[in-house]
Amino acid sequence: MAAEDAESPLERIARLELEITRALAERDLASDSDERSDGHHHPAEAATDADLRERYLRDTLRLRDQLERLGRARAAIAAGTYGICIDCGAPIPEGRLAALPDAERCVACQSLAARRR
Ligand SMILES: [Zn+2]
Repeated sequence: MAAEDAESPLERIARLELEITRALAERDLASDSDERSDGHHHPAEAATDADLRERYLRDTLRLRDQLERLGRARAAIAAGTYGICIDCGAPIPEGRLAALPDAERCVACQSLAARRR
């Protein structure tokens, strides 16, 4: 749809922020009901629960992380530095920004940064 192509970076970021905020809110509700059912757990389920809980925490952290990066992207738009690689200063291709509005690095620098981790 043409309207989607015309979406500005700020609109993209706002949409993603809303999606993530909603996902996090749903998670909060889900963890509330988890705690309520904690009373009657079978010991055999404990390992699975721990796995689920760990995955749940990891996903939650990932979402919070993404929200933080979107906040930085928003600040970069305000500062006029959005779409510029924070490592090498090269412009990040529009296609990459469309797919990853919170991208802070060009593809080359991102793969270097990922290897450093
Ligand atoms: Zn770069």
